[in-house]
Amino acid sequence: MAKTAITPTREQDYPEWYQQVIKAADLAETSDVRGCMVIKPWGYAIWENMQRKLDDMFKATGHENAYFPLFIPMSFLEKEAEHVEGFAKECAVVTHHRLVDNGSGGLMPDPQAKLEEPLIVRPTSETIIGATFARWVQSYRDLPILINQWANVVRWEMRTRMFLRTAEFLWQEGHTVHATSEEAQEETRQMLDVYADFAENYMAMPVIKGRKTAGERFPGAVDTLSIEAMMQDRKALQAGTSHFLGQNFAKAQDIKFQSESGDLTHAWTTSWGVSTRLVGGLIMSHADDDGMVIPPKLAPAHVAILPIYKNDEERAVVLPYCQSLKAELEAQTFDGAAVRVKLDDRDIRGGDKKWQWVKRGVPIRAEIGPRDVKGEGAFVARRDIGGKGTGTPRGELVAGITKMLEEMQQNLYDRAAKLREESTVELNSMDEFQKFFAEDAPGGMAYCHFVDGAEMEAKLKAMKLTARCIPLDGKEEKGKCIFTGGESQQRGVFARAY
Ligand code: AMP
Repeated sequence: MAKTAITPTREQDYPEWYQQVIKAADLAETSDVRGCMVIKPWGYAIWENMQRKLDDMFKATGHENAYFPLFIPMSFLEKEAEHVEGFAKECAVVTHHRLVDNGSGGLMPDPQAKLEEPLIVRPTSETIIGATFARWVQSYRDLPILINQWANVVRWEMRTRMFLRTAEFLWQEGHTVHATSEEAQEETRQMLDVYADFAENYMAMPVIKGRKTAGERFPGAVDTLSIEAMMQDRKALQAGTSHFLGQNFAKAQDIKFQSESGDLTHAWTTSWGVSTRLVGGLIMSHADDDGMVIPPKLAPAHVAILPIYKNDEERAVVLPYCQSLKAELEAQTFDGAAVRVKLDDRDIRGGDKKWQWVKRGVPIRAEIGPRDVKGEGAFVARRDIGGKGTGTPRGELVAGITKMLEEMQQNLYDRAAKLREESTVELNSMDEFQKFFAEDAPGGMAYCHFVDGAEMEAKLKAMKLTARCIPLDGKEEKGKCIFTGGESQQRGVFARAY
């Protein structure tokens, strides 16, 4: 078997492979706090690139950024019944505002400093932002309000996994207020489209846009839309959600406005979010048995130039050549900006240097030794194709860099789309369904007729499966629910999920 940089391989143990890629690529590490991770510079730079793109897209659709408190008074959460029920189980609660000596050399919360009303560390901010919006909105002229917040939130998750599900995570949450139901629904749909555009065109991750079943809806939402992706182990990942909240939160929070005709009515709200889970999605979509593979549009560096020399004499020849190549490459553009080049002149063994960049997933490596300098070339490798690389004339590398990055971006998308296509089926009976999702079968995404409800939910739960969504572009088609035998008008997507 070929030697791989990551052990175990995806085939041998996918969950463990995932953890090892994160470690080998220097993306993140576990912390001293249960369920919370440390995001390291290389991983954080990927998140920053995601943020930048998304932020541009939010602004292009008319949204502005603002910031709201980390703490939410407990009573705020109580106002929307479904919302409190959904989040009460996983809330971090602040009860004191001072520490005192505990008499045995340690500390304890000061009993004299107990808060009158406990504060919740935000698991999501509908309630605190809604209370603020109630003050901002008086008349129809104040609408719409289109706000986004970049923040951290805390959900006390019991089973955590780096990036995919952490107790504290970074995200953005959009919150908007509208005068009509139609307008709010349009906003919900628009932001789902923004997420899908980002997932496919930047993350190179094909997604299904759909509507959640009742059991998977956001607590307090009338309707939850999501984008669903398929990872390399054929499990689904909910990559982003956009909620139509109806008037539920407006009523709970008293967001009212005077309409043009003068009567006072409750407004319509939406919320939408994506989180650092997207970095996990990126890893699970593209990384391989040698480590991370980053789509060029999100890569902190597009090209790593690796000077290779044995002594000071060689270094004196190789380094200036690399520096001028760096400048030439940086004068090229990709995705509307300068090509990002990292010159790694650390004094470490050439082989180690190379493998560090392979594992980190930099799209292009250019190794340069004294012989390449003499031949006016570089030894160039594209991360997604594998192999050692090929000797390339310098002029060709510079002139072709943009195209190379574009081709890699496209290839990653095509590869992921192909896997999804191969792993997607239409199933028409419970028997087929059980076979497709059997323990030793590869699994994937199954399109099946269904009737939403408790009976279906219970059967899915027993099989450790989930309804992912009802595709928005699904065609109407009469059929029989594979769970209940009831009449069904459309197929839903079912899968094992993260
Ligand atoms: P929600 O507010 O539940 O609709 O979640 C908004 C976004 O955050 C979705 O894209 C989720 O996939 C993501 N998300 C939810 N819980 C977590 C978590 N524990 N860690 C990371 N991301 C999460």
